[in-house]
Amino acid sequence: MTHVMNTYARLPVAFVRGEGCWLWDAGGKRYLDAMAGIAVCGLGHSHPKYVAALREQVSKLVHTSNLYEIALQEKLADKLSEISGMDNVFFCTSGCEANEAAIKLARLYGHKKNIEAPAIVVMEKAFHGRTIATLSATGSRKVQAGFEPLVAGFVRVPFDDLAAVKRVAENNRNVVAVLVELLQGEGGVNVCSADYLAGLREICDANGWLLMLDEVQSGMGRTGKWFAFQHSGVMPDVMPLAKGLGNGMPIGACLAAGAAAQLFKPGSHGSTFGGSPLACAAALATLAIIEEEQLMESAVTIGDFIRSSLAERLAGARGVKEIRGKGLMIGIELDYPCGDLVQQALELGLLINVTADNVIRLLPPLILKREEAELLLATLAPLITEFLAKQSAPQAAAQTA
Ligand code: PMP
Repeated sequence: MTHVMNTYARLPVAFVRGEGCWLWDAGGKRYLDAMAGIAVCGLGHSHPKYVAALREQVSKLVHTSNLYEIALQEKLADKLSEISGMDNVFFCTSGCEANEAAIKLARLYGHKKNIEAPAIVVMEKAFHGRTIATLSATGSRKVQAGFEPLVAGFVRVPFDDLAAVKRVAENNRNVVAVLVELLQGEGGVNVCSADYLAGLREICDANGWLLMLDEVQSGMGRTGKWFAFQHSGVMPDVMPLAKGLGNGMPIGACLAAGAAAQLFKPGSHGSTFGGSPLACAAALATLAIIEEEQLMESAVTIGDFIRSSLAERLAGARGVKEIRGKGLMIGIELDYPCGDLVQQALELGLLINVTADNVIRLLPPLILKREEAELLLATLAPLITEFLAKQSAPQAAAQTA
């Protein structure tokens, strides 16, 4: 009998070892990892330079707490500020905690402007975490159900709909910020229009709101730039990060620029484990390796290759709605719920995920090579084709009705 709480419907496999883009189970079977621990292990598994950096730091110092100065935290904050153009960083341990910091910054910002009940605009299908505040910001009833009362102060609008945000600006004087994922991960790898971010920036500037971009999943090189916002020339005011930042060592960060960067004072916020020497050493090594090995450039090339090859291979298949994404954040939307594909792919030695019921999601390590991408395609494309062929016409009609 397990004593682990039943919060995950786990797949029946446990990995004992990893190397590069591959994982092995106890029986010696190997799996191509197209999930990277949900967009975490950009460097793959057991990267020699990453392992060496962790080994060295573990033998020196793991944790001291934020009661004292932490030189590696300063170094990491400098580096993050250099690559993002943001001013200051708060360190924590996870994505939801980074978003909690963003929400607290927005509320402080609002109170400074004498708004007593500050509100944040959030999106349908958004995912920001599972703490009480971040699940309230999340746009999924499944995530929220059973945990009411939700935290107040969120105004929800459809994703990628500037007119809806403008309407909120006209009607709600309590709004102080917008919190949005430029590429919605859990919501189905939803990509916004090219002018969305600039439009949001304009609305935020016109109304004195903070533009807060949740780059927990899309950040750290995954889309081919350090951060998804860098595909356009538009800067955010606040940016929560986590996942790929530490390549598996738990570390989150909330970056802020301008007025938002000065809001926290001693005592306003904290996190016992936040920015420990070990976590910061892991993040510094991760950033250095991404640069040295030009992994962002590779994410663009390999990502484009996967998307175009899938489009070719699935060209004749009925039931593929859209193949989308950026860099190595890839979604394949089908006309049918396709959760069963995850187990089928597992049996074939491939780790994938299905999100929003009918979107196959690929988040492979940034180190994925062309030959590995070809292997991935050789397994996945026939699996999708066979799955679609099995969906009978009457079922299809019911689905679309
Ligand atoms: N924001 C986004 C965009 C995410 O994708 C996730 C996790 N999937 C989170 C926040 C929450 O991160 P964590 O699980 O580390 O709390």
